[in-house]
Parts: sequence; structure tokens; C-alpha cells
Amino acid sequence: MSDNCLMPVAFFGHGSPTTILDDPKTVSAWRELADRFPAPRAILCVSAHWCTKGVRVTAADTPRTIHDFGSNLPAALFDIQYPAPGSPELADLILDLLAPIGVELDYDWGLDHGTWAVLSAIYPDADVPVLQLSMDASKPISWHYEVGRALRPLREQGVLILGSGNVVHTLVQMEWNIDAPPHDWAQRFNDLVINVVETDTPQRLFDHEALGKDATLAVPPEDLGHYWPLFYVLGSRHASDKLTMQPRHVQYKSLSMLSFVLDSA
Ligand code: ZN
Repeated sequence: MSDNCLMPVAFFGHGSPTTILDDPKTVSAWRELADRFPAPRAILCVSAHWCTKGVRVTAADTPRTIHDFGSNLPAALFDIQYPAPGSPELADLILDLLAPIGVELDYDWGLDHGTWAVLSAIYPDADVPVLQLSMDASKPISWHYEVGRALRPLREQGVLILGSGNVVHTLVQMEWNIDAPPHDWAQRFNDLVINVVETDTPQRLFDHEALGKDATLAVPPEDLGHYWPLFYVLGSRHASDKLTMQPRHVQYKSLSMLSFVLDSA
């Protein structure tokens, strides 16, 4: 890939860790999204499952596959490995890009399931270097958006910026039936986010508490981590990007699978 190719940015609602095993419709929708663009030179993933104090970026040559979920889940999930290489050079570049906020290199974290559950579906060969960027859990939504803006130059270098979370993620209100109709508030909040993405008006979501009860039910205060990756993707958007969104539904009553790609093609 040429260094001048502008890569898209993408947000994936990664769902349950079992999505890769038991939700072929979502996996197929993800693959269609990824088929819209050529394989990137590298991938920088902002996953819901890596919230830290300060900001860290994985810098190992060979990041480990992390099985960060309960032992009650199927054994087949624990057998999954995603042996993509890392890229210490790209980690150094990200350090420079984000110099004002002081990013630290990290050699311990690897690829958590927010990253590999999506990438093993869309790039099963694991031959593209992958890095993760952590999210500072003490910061407001607008700050996460600004970090996304600062990452935007990576798109010109063939790097796919990938956010992996869920815009509705309320585990205590889930029903373990993938086809259960969504709670009204979950559907309304999912629809609001769809409208914000379609109209390119991310600022409407910055003051989360002011959005009312739908928002606090759909994104409970203890789980803003699944919501924040969206803002890295919206922050790295170009005004000329075209939007492709699929799937957009809420499953298990309160888990949004909303996923989309913004590309300049
Ligand atoms: Zn998750």
C-alpha cells in the first residue's frame, strides 16, 4: 500500500465474546464492511477492554492474545489465538503524534477480545500488524474525541483506526436470547447514535448525563468504556468521508451491534 492512501476508519460493535462463534449474520456484515477497502498497512485498535490511568500503546513485536472474559464461556473461545505481529515503529510514531498527552509504551498488554473478536472475523490470516491504544478512564468524552482527531494523520499512512465497543452495553438488562426485542430505551438510544453518526454531529453526545435516562440506561456510568471507542472513530473522521453502516440492531435486549465504516473512496 502507498503511504499516500487514505485509509478509512471503522467502528465495530463487538457484542458478546461469543459473536465470532454463534452470530454468523453479524460476522458476515463485518466482512462486507471490511471488503470495502484494501488491507491496511497496520491497524490501531481502541478497544473497550483497555482502560487505564494515562494512555498506553502496545509496543511488543509479538503481542499476546488475551482471553479477558469469564471461564463460563465456551472452551472454543479460549483456544482462539490471533498471532498478528506488532509494530514498535508505529508505536513510536503514535508517541510522537500524541506527544502533548504523554503516551507510554506498553510491553505487557496484548490483543484483548475487543480487538481479536473483530479481527479474527475480518482478517483471519492475522498477517497485518496490530497495535492497541488504551483509553484514559479519568477523561471526559470530548477528550477521547480530541485524541481521535490527533490520530487522524495515521490514515494517510495506511493505518486503519478501529474502534471496538458497543453504543448500548447494559449487561444487567440483557436476556440471553439473541433475538429478544430491544428495550425501548435501548432502541431509542441506538437510534440517536445512528442519527448523530449520519449527520456528523458528535458534539450532541459529549454531555452524556444531560442526554437523560435513555443514555444512562444504555451506557451505565460504570461502563462508559464500551462507549468511548466511538469517539476516537468520530474524531478521526474527514468531512468528505462516506458512511456505510451495518449491522445496526440491538440484540439480547440491550447490546447494540451498530458498526460502520467511514471512507473517502
Ligand atoms: Zn466488550
